[in-house]
Amino acid sequence: MQPSYSTRPTMRVNLDNLRYNYETIKKRVGNAKIGASVKADAYGLGATQVGRALYGAGCRIFFVATAGEGKILRDSVGPNSAIYVLNGPSPRDKGVLLGAKLKPVINSLEQAQFWAQVSNSVNEPPYTAIHIDTGMNRLGFDEEEFKEFARDKKLWSALNPEWVMSHLACAPDKDHPLNAQQLAKFKRAAAQLPMTPLSLANTAGTYLGKPYHFQMVRPGIGLYGGYATNTPEQEDIRTVVTLLAPILQIRNINKGESIGYNASYTAPRDMQIAVLGAGYADGIPVLASNKGYATLHDEAVPVVGRVSMDITMVDITDVHMHKEVGGVVVFRGDQLENEASEIGTINYEMLTRMGQRLRRDYGKPEKSNAQPARQKPFKPSKSSGYQKRR
Ligand SMILES: *Cc1c(COP(=O)(O)O)cnc(C)c1O
Repeated sequence: MQPSYSTRPTMRVNLDNLRYNYETIKKRVGNAKIGASVKADAYGLGATQVGRALYGAGCRIFFVATAGEGKILRDSVGPNSAIYVLNGPSPRDKGVLLGAKLKPVINSLEQAQFWAQVSNSVNEPPYTAIHIDTGMNRLGFDEEEFKEFARDKKLWSALNPEWVMSHLACAPDKDHPLNAQQLAKFKRAAAQLPMTPLSLANTAGTYLGKPYHFQMVRPGIGLYGGYATNTPEQEDIRTVVTLLAPILQIRNINKGESIGYNASYTAPRDMQIAVLGAGYADGIPVLASNKGYATLHDEAVPVVGRVSMDITMVDITDVHMHKEVGGVVVFRGDQLENEASEIGTINYEMLTRMGQRLRRDYGKPEKSNAQPARQKPFKPSKSSGYQKRR
């Protein structure tokens, strides 16, 4: 048994690798600024710690989704950073936005009019960013609305826009025609305006080349060690997040016996399974039942039976090294994208689903047998060819 054995699962976040990923994006985009996307609690990693680490690396611009997220981040990064709230201003959030000096992203004429009113009623109203839709049909001014807005000098200046931004729908696929269409539309819209710095690219957009970088890029997933594009060979990123599930019990199962709720798995042979102290409450999706896998000493260990709230079983029959109670099995980590694709989801969702119960470890990985090896190439079962991170 491991000496520091705990029944509680752990999310381990490697902040050195986060900083490495930040630096590589910085190199790629040259003079463009980086506005880090830290919405949804920094993609589940913890906005407070991530915010502080990015601030330490030199980041001074952040994007969150809501005012509440912005307030938490403000407490973490202090007064010298710009924090933009992507989902825009609303009457109920007005106090938090002003109190924490958050900058709303203005997505519509309605938001513009509301925020102009607020701005005109306070001293030193915060600057804003203007978000125009260029083909994604999610948030942002549509073309007609934007023309109207751009002509309204009074409204424009009441909002004090610092940035005009848009968001790419298909940036992971560099050959997708929508990329160039959105770029052209973005430039056309920007041409109607007084000189304002521009921002278009998310992480994937940074790989589309210089014309997409403008004066600021807004990476998220790439900072957190997730592959952003359909050609991950080109991405030099390091793994940031691992979910470590402790082995609570090791059982020998006879051929023909079933495992877990609903007896959804029947042992095809005599086998050995590890009962892990992490379940769907911790972020192991029920969809991973009989489908997903984790790793033990870099070997794939398939999930057998249905994932339950606090417990998951994996098949460790073919693993020969160090199988013991107190050892840990690794989810996410280097196999993040494969784990996601095996169950039909994406790396973003796998990260943001990390459970509240996880112990959170932001320290340096210790060197012990329980530590997942992160340097060796790892190809799981039907690997989709993801390049191993460094
Ligand atoms: C989430 C988000 C980003 C970051 O996207 P990634 O794909 O994680 O790099 C950038 N811009 C906007 C508007 C977003 O909503």
